[in-house]
Amino acid sequence: MKLCGKFICPVCRKSLVYSIIDNVDFVGEGVSIFAFSCECGFKGVDIFPEKQHGPRTLTFKVNGDKDLNVLVARSSTSTVIIPELPLEIKPGPASQGIITTVEGILLRAKDVFGKRTIKVNDLLLKKKFTLIIHDPKGTSAIDSPRVKISAVNDKNPFKA
Ligand SMILES: [Zn+2]
Repeated sequence: MKLCGKFICPVCRKSLVYSIIDNVDFVGEGVSIFAFSCECGFKGVDIFPEKQHGPRTLTFKVNGDKDLNVLVARSSTSTVIIPELPLEIKPGPASQGIITTVEGILLRAKDVFGKRTIKVNDLLLKKKFTLIIHDPKGTSAIDSPRVKISAVNDKNPFKA
């Protein structure tokens, strides 16, 4: 189901339309996605659970073309880790949730870490790496039956 509403854009003060999409299948029942975008360029997406899973880590071994197209919902508070690079994208104050694909995560990584672009391209060619999402609220999701979900040790996401 998709709901819409309006609020005032905090940047330009114009009225802004947002949409809430709830019960997104792969993210899980009771999870809503909240999205908005304004003419002035202010936009955002986040993922809200009705009930939270608690801290957990999702681990996905990417192997082949198909896996690059797997959908990923990353909540604004989670950290994305690709140990093969190594790369860690931590949530910042302006961090937003995103719905993208595994490939989209890598393309975004290129923006964030310009210097490592060659290594990112290498992973995109090989299509073999590990995608880890360390999520303190447990609302992120990766749409594959091969995702391993484990409860997390908050202090060290690599040891989850
Ligand atoms: Zn605006």
